Amino acid sequence: MKNTTPSSAFSFSKIYCSLFGHNYVLSKNVTHHIKEYTCSHCGEQATTNSRGRLEAMTPKLKEINNALASVHAKKLARTNPDSTLQAAS
Ligand SMILES: [Zn+2]
Repeated sequence: MKNTTPSSAFSFSKIYCSLFGHNYVLSKNVTHHIKEYTCSHCGEQATTNSRGRLEAMTPKLKEINNALASVHAKKLARTNPDSTLQAAS
């Protein structure tokens, strides 16, 4: 049997995930449509892309999500100025 694991650190979580798939839980709402997920087993991160499909998180996607999140927050504040005040009461 071929062993392609590069590091000697044995991680049962990683093996579990590669066998059964990641158990992604919602970690952040970027916009109404784009969300970030973290695997509860191995901590692997994923995000929904512009087509609404789940994709493995990359530094580039993280950057895009951060930009989207700040644009989204500004848009919300502008179109819905009362919503922040309502939440406080
Ligand atoms: Zn996982």
